[in-house]
Amino acid sequence: MTRALVIGGGISGLAAALRLRELGGPALEIVVVDRAEHLGGKLRTGQIADTPVELGAETFLVRRPEAVRLAGKVGLAEAVTHPAGLPAALAVDGELRPIPKGTLLGVPGDFDAVAETGVLSPEGLARMRAEESAGGALLPDGDVTVGSLVRRAFGDEVADRLVDPLLGGVYAGRADELSLRATAPALAAAAREHDRLSDAVRAVAAPAAKAPGEAPAPVFGTIAGGLSMLVEATALASGAELRLGLPVRELSHDGERWLATIGDTRDPEILTADAVVLAVPARPASRLLEGVSAEAATEVGVLEYASMALVTMALELDAELPELSGFLVPATEGRAVKAATFFSRKWPHRADELTVLRCSIGRHGQEAELQRTDAQLIALARAELGELIGRELPEPVDAHVTRWGGGLPQYGPGHEERIAAAREALSGFSTLGLAGAAFDGVGIPVCIASGEKAAERVFAGLAAGRG
Ligand SMILES: Cc1cc2nc3c(=O)[nH]c(=O)nc-3n(C[C@H](O)[C@H](O)[C@H](O)COP(=O)(O)OP(=O)(O)OC[C@H]3O[C@@H](n4cnc5c(N)ncnc54)[C@H](O)[C@@H]3O)c2cc1C
Repeated sequence: MTRALVIGGGISGLAAALRLRELGGPALEIVVVDRAEHLGGKLRTGQIADTPVELGAETFLVRRPEAVRLAGKVGLAEAVTHPAGLPAALAVDGELRPIPKGTLLGVPGDFDAVAETGVLSPEGLARMRAEESAGGALLPDGDVTVGSLVRRAFGDEVADRLVDPLLGGVYAGRADELSLRATAPALAAAAREHDRLSDAVRAVAAPAAKAPGEAPAPVFGTIAGGLSMLVEATALASGAELRLGLPVRELSHDGERWLATIGDTRDPEILTADAVVLAVPARPASRLLEGVSAEAATEVGVLEYASMALVTMALELDAELPELSGFLVPATEGRAVKAATFFSRKWPHRADELTVLRCSIGRHGQEAELQRTDAQLIALARAELGELIGRELPEPVDAHVTRWGGGLPQYGPGHEERIAAAREALSGFSTLGLAGAAFDGVGIPVCIASGEKAAERVFAGLAAGRG
């Protein structure tokens, strides 16, 4: 029997397993191995005060089709739900102000909309309006950081108060470190075609034409009941054998089959497979690739990660929160909390008997913020949140801290080239595929696409081998 091994049971690995099943049918044996005791990786639904709550990723982009399509395939089409459409805010100078419309990852396309929000000082506004040409020939062929492009075009305030917090919300990373091409590929492409960055933003962010009176299409979605349902349903639909609580320690190819050493060092097991999808974060991926290609291992191993802690709280209902889905806090505000999400307000499908919200603490390079006990993090989040919404929050009825050490990859300039080089170094191994957030993008839909593509690659490799 042909066996495919998927290393890593996050959403990328599970999407790969399901795609392998679709391609290989019932005859293909599929094994998913994960070091954790549970599937899902960064997707984990937990409980707070007896209600479901996301302890990791919370929502997926629905403008890309993959997550909604996967939900449909595994019987969860009806469970896809969308946010209420409340605005989010930015905390600037200690006050919550609207996030300007017409921006792309915080990069402005509409100066008047930015001016209306009061996010920038008069000097910052004047500098933004005196936009310096940063597109066209001025954008080098290679990669740059988002921060360097934005600072040059619009000045420091736009970078610090708009772009850095928006990128921080997605990557827990810094605008001055993150690659433009890897984090905003459409903007990078448009910046080569336009002389002004604001024109590039408008070209990318142009809303799709819709009939008069038609409601705007939702941008985000989630699974009512929790993203862990998507994880479980995908695993079930894949028909894979699940081996949990077992780290894969080594990987090699003996010229015929893949050999994976799994489990305890004192009692290891060798699992053989005809094809492998490697869907783990960069560090374990690099370690496993050492037995296959030193060059690929090096290229993959340089990727850095940001760590963060999520403080989820349930408060009595009379803890009135602003009419917002949440807010982002620029690093220049000097606070530990970098974002807050008001789950009970944001998601209409939640009929919470308590007010459920979560704060995120920790940016890349600021790991020291996390050197606190859970109780200290909860107290800090509660205090900073209270200061920003302008009233002291009551003692939480329930509170939970989830720590994500090395949770989000930081794609620096040249990331795409490094991953392309790693794949090139592995091109002789047509039955090995790399998938997941370490390689192709952090968003859930992109991870699903990455898993599916890796499955297609190794299945084609298997078919070619048989041929
Ligand atoms: C706190 C947080 C919030 C986020 N919020 C969002 C959001 O709202 N929307 C969004 O689109 N994205 C969000 N993301 C990003 C997104 O969740 C992740 O990029 C995505 O889930 C990664 O999936 P993956 O399968 O590639 O990797 P992972 O989820 O990291 O899965 C990898 C799996 O590999 C396993 N593993 C590791 N080493 C080994 C080994 N040696 N042997 C066997 N198994 C191993 C791990 O246990 C893990 O289960 C968030 C991420 C974090 C950390």
